[in-house]
Amino acid sequence: MSTEYDYDAAREYAVVGSGLKAPSSNWVDIKCPFCGTTSRAFIWSLSGGGKKCVNKKCGAKHNSTGSTSPVKTK
Ligand SMILES: [Zn+2]
Repeated sequence: MSTEYDYDAAREYAVVGSGLKAPSSNWVDIKCPFCGTTSRAFIWSLSGGGKKCVNKKCGAKHNSTGSTSPVKTK
């Protein structure tokens, strides 16, 4: 078994918090499985195009399916 860091594969993210912004926008705090940065994303935004990790050096995208897709950097 290889434990090599696979930057091509999506990983599941952890939701570390959630809440409601009035009047009806639910949000979640998503912990990036790649860089560990927590990004706050609205559900509607997440299920739309996904939410980019707020860490600009990371740039991975959190999807509504519960996984994060890494972004390759050159
Ligand atoms: Zn990240």
